Amino acid sequence: MELELGLSQNMLAGLAVIFGLLIGSFLNVVILRLPEKMQAEWRRDSRDFLGLEPEVSEQPVTLSKPASRCPSCGVAIKPQHNIPLISYLFLKGRCKACAAPISIQYPMVELLAGLLAGFFVYHYGLSIVSLYGIVFSYSLLVLTGIDLHEKLLPDQITLPLLWLGLFANLSGTFVSLNEAVVGAIAGYLSLWLVFWAFKLITGKEGMGYGDFKLLAALGAWLGWQMLPLVILLSTVVGATVGIAAILFAGREKQVPMAFGPYLAMAGWIAFVWGDKILDSYLRFLSL
Ligand SMILES: [Zn+2]
Repeated sequence: MELELGLSQNMLAGLAVIFGLLIGSFLNVVILRLPEKMQAEWRRDSRDFLGLEPEVSEQPVTLSKPASRCPSCGVAIKPQHNIPLISYLFLKGRCKACAAPISIQYPMVELLAGLLAGFFVYHYGLSIVSLYGIVFSYSLLVLTGIDLHEKLLPDQITLPLLWLGLFANLSGTFVSLNEAVVGAIAGYLSLWLVFWAFKLITGKEGMGYGDFKLLAALGAWLGWQMLPLVILLSTVVGATVGIAAILFAGREKQVPMAFGPYLAMAGWIAFVWGDKILDSYLRFLSL
């Protein structure tokens, strides 16, 4: 059911972009703070397990505290310098206090968050599909950001994403519940098998358990039929970027590269265009 607000689809999409830009600021905070929070918890748990006293200087890191600071000079960021995208452009990408360059990640995440919200509202209006689409996309965006920085995909995001995919498909929003459940299981197992085969053959670990959980989540959202496409797309994009990195950036072949961002990108493409891609593929086969 769509809300009738007397606004055109274009205006709604425009409002969604602004809404997305604001949420994008928050997503930046999650990308930055969630790993810090997890590491603080691991330290605390480890000290607890070893029977050590808790660290005295330990300042609890939460998503809202401490307030945003420049990572270079530590000066608190004023609200007027914290406006999504606009502040970055206005400050020409530099800290107002110390002129240290601000990571391009911030405006990129804000811009993507804005465009993604606009994309879904433009195509699907104010609907449950748009809401699911935006939550799905933002989860993948945060996972990509964290995996690029920390080489990990937090359970705090992959697992709720999996449950939410199953929940959405309880009423068959995207695929049937059967396809979603089989998708989640097959997603996990397929990468788990690849991981162990790779480890037995080469003695190396090519990816992490977070990747299995992410593919399980994608299976829950997209159904098992999309998994081959997701794996194919992520491998093609990953191999292309990997070869380009070795050729142009002189990156060493041995440096492990995060696989999560490619899975996330492939999952998003399959979510939006998967049916079309599979349809044209099947039509191509039957020619
Ligand atoms: Zn600064």
